[in-house]
Amino acid sequence: MMQDVHQLRCTGCARVIALDALKENLRCPECGDLYEVEYPAWSVQSAADSATRPVKRNLPNPSALRWLWKERRTSTELKDQSGVWRFRDLLPILADESNIISLREGNTPLYELPRCAQATGVERLYAKHQGMNPTGSFKDAGMTAALSVAHERGFEWVACASTGNTSAAMAAYAARAGMRSLVLIPEGKIAWGKLSQALDYGALTCQLRTDFDGCVRVLSEVVRRAPVYLLNSVNPYRIEGQKTPALEIAEQLDWQVPDHLIVPGGNLANSSALGKAFLEMKHLGLTDRVPRVSIVQAEGANPLYRSMQANGGRELTAVEAHTRASAIRIGNPASWRKAVKVVEATGGWVEQATEAEIALAKAEIGAEGIGCEPASAVTLVGLKKLLAAGRIDPSESVVLLLTGHTLKDSDYTIQYHRGDLLREEELAPLRPEIEITRRNTVELDADPDQVLRALEKAGRQ
Ligand SMILES: *Cc1c(COP(=O)(O)O)cnc(C)c1O
Ligand SMILES: [Zn+2]
Repeated sequence: MMQDVHQLRCTGCARVIALDALKENLRCPECGDLYEVEYPAWSVQSAADSATRPVKRNLPNPSALRWLWKERRTSTELKDQSGVWRFRDLLPILADESNIISLREGNTPLYELPRCAQATGVERLYAKHQGMNPTGSFKDAGMTAALSVAHERGFEWVACASTGNTSAAMAAYAARAGMRSLVLIPEGKIAWGKLSQALDYGALTCQLRTDFDGCVRVLSEVVRRAPVYLLNSVNPYRIEGQKTPALEIAEQLDWQVPDHLIVPGGNLANSSALGKAFLEMKHLGLTDRVPRVSIVQAEGANPLYRSMQANGGRELTAVEAHTRASAIRIGNPASWRKAVKVVEATGGWVEQATEAEIALAKAEIGAEGIGCEPASAVTLVGLKKLLAAGRIDPSESVVLLLTGHTLKDSDYTIQYHRGDLLREEELAPLRPEIEITRRNTVELDADPDQVLRALEKAGRQ
């Protein structure tokens, strides 16, 4: 029975609810906070109160799990080929595994970043590239989990408000399941690549005359009045799927966790999920410690950064969000309390990045032959700042979590290289660094001599 395997606990008042009591806006009716999935047999939170509420504890064997997860990579079964469901032992959220809806997400590469390592002085620097997922962002890992739950519970419609990537992922997985999807996006403020995906995968896509936070407000009313299943990251099952990149990172580093993990912060679900995973892995004896998880926001969309500065993360004041990194243009992040707990539990920090810093960092990651979305590049900015502040030592190992694929927002990249992305006053502090990374197109006649002269000139640079 699935009730025995997982339960839902409010992260605010600790109340445990029945699985079918999770309704509508997915928030606790008592305190308004978000729910978290836990597994009475083994999870961290239930260990804390097993003294008062005896449960049969049944901790899985870590070396058997490591072996099993590796073995599954050679299987031809869908649930084994998925980099999310390969780890299903740590996310047993379905009553019946035949309800899995998967696009073979996950199993993303962990790249070395030799040039960025050299430039920053860090010896071991890696990028976990979640942009290499089926729809081009980390959202697929959470979506396969939560949409499979929606499918199992018999919903016809799923819905989300999105800065773009969630809608692309939701629309794709809904299409695979033969379900319908409703997308609310802020008008004129999402990258074309992402919008095109939602249309291609057949979503009912509504552009609302408001920002992301306004879309969230409208959607919470819609789910109250219509039988649609909410797939925003307030959905605790998305968090379960989004744990798996942390398991992959540990596996890819031979179960030696890195010293630091740096994650972009928007709605703050991703950092919450990765922190949950690392804490669970340590608790189960899969790893012997946790990395410090640090979060980086854009300066124009920095409510968590401000909250940490002003009151150590006890209260958060929403801001009106402005940044070209549209995936993290969020002023009122839903999962901020979960994120604060992760930063505290792991000893991480919260940083912010200016528009020029983000643009430069994105070009530097691009020059490694990898590329990423603007929002992902805040992680490299965070690394530079944490090094400068002495919070990361160059001898430590660092993983940057790259959240989205570079082709998601090619307009941004082209504007950068043409020199018309940033305003004068934004550019000024970093002009020389940015100038040497710019690679605009060279317009020539159809003449070999002109191409040879261009080649010679480039060779001298
Ligand atoms: C959604 C998204 C983020 C922000 O993740 P949160 O979980 O909302 O903090 C960052 N980068 C990309 C590319 C995204 O799609
Ligand atoms: Zn509560």
